[in-house]
Amino acid sequence: MTGLYFDFNATTPLSPKSKIAIKQRLEQFANPSGKYRLSQSLHTLIHDTKESIAQLMGGSAERIIFTSGGTEGNNLALHSVFSQLSVNQLSRYHAICSAIEHSSILEPLRWYQKQGLKLTIIDPGKTGRVDQDALCRAITPQTCLIALMVINNETGVIQPYEALASQLKGKGIHLHLDAIQAVGKWPMYCPDDIPLTVTFSGHKFYAPKGIGGLYYSSQVKICPLLHGGGQEQGLRSGTENTLGIAGLAAAAEEACEELIQRLYHCQEMRKYIINQLDISTIKYHLNGETNPEYQAPWTLNISFPGVRAEALANRLDLCHGISVSLGSACSNNSQTPQRSHVLLAMQSPHAYIDSALRISFGHVTERQEIDVLVNALKQEIQNLLAIAGE
Ligand code: PLP
Repeated sequence: MTGLYFDFNATTPLSPKSKIAIKQRLEQFANPSGKYRLSQSLHTLIHDTKESIAQLMGGSAERIIFTSGGTEGNNLALHSVFSQLSVNQLSRYHAICSAIEHSSILEPLRWYQKQGLKLTIIDPGKTGRVDQDALCRAITPQTCLIALMVINNETGVIQPYEALASQLKGKGIHLHLDAIQAVGKWPMYCPDDIPLTVTFSGHKFYAPKGIGGLYYSSQVKICPLLHGGGQEQGLRSGTENTLGIAGLAAAAEEACEELIQRLYHCQEMRKYIINQLDISTIKYHLNGETNPEYQAPWTLNISFPGVRAEALANRLDLCHGISVSLGSACSNNSQTPQRSHVLLAMQSPHAYIDSALRISFGHVTERQEIDVLVNALKQEIQNLLAIAGE
């Protein structure tokens, strides 16, 4: 089934080059740990892919560990900080994170909190941007970790990660950056002068699902979550996902070459959507930053007052073949629909939260697709308002 896809923050389609790279490796089934020639080219593939990822992240290739994706990378980073402490030591330590982190940060931190860790969760401002001074004011002599995402998956708001990294210089506090919505789409730089970990995930930038990783600065000691055959210098055991890595390599090279053009295209598309919405006279409210400097250009978190987002998303899907998300796709796994923890933390009124859609797109999105989306939105919002008697 084909249709129009506006949920690029949940996952992206494979890029044509990524598909080709995977196809070319389909017959190379050898285990990269083998000592024979069949394995050698896979060994080289793994090494070269780390070089490409390092270029995207502005870090060093030797300090990249491949994982099964972003969730594992985030868990590995937190585990590396806390597993070095014994359970009774945990209660002597303190961590800080923002309230808008992804569940793969919030859930492990809450788990450590149950084991005794002191945890401070900082709300963002109404714009969805966390104030780095508020994070720093929460530091106590016991603070060992601050976790902040680089770009929020629901709103696309860019967080002050660079300013925070400079403020933490010399403090010996581990900074973990969940850069899963940023790497491959946004210019990144990983400084080496603080204890730093940064995560990425291939399926957010046109590589396959099931491959991602963790970058760590030279001041960090990684404690493995998975023990076994000693792959990834013993830091992440398990036979490498060579097909995923082949796809990741191609996607990373393309992202490196085209990053700025892609950003520019998304900026143009975002302006175009807003312009078309204005022309259509649909009533809407944009959630998040109004300063474009702090807003990822490929995301709109948008409320249509008086309309239930779930009903609107269903009608867009069933009647027009258009896929949009209600909020974070990752939280859609919960049995009962829950209000977005991100919009709640931003103190958005419930009427805005209940009518909010996340429209996310990419450099492959074209104006004609946006025209179809805006027309469908207009039609279905009118239908739903008529049903509601408004
Ligand atoms: N962190 C953020 C900000 C995300 O958006 C996601 C996925 O949506 C994840 C972590 C989890 O990544 P993965 O799907 O690769 O496990």
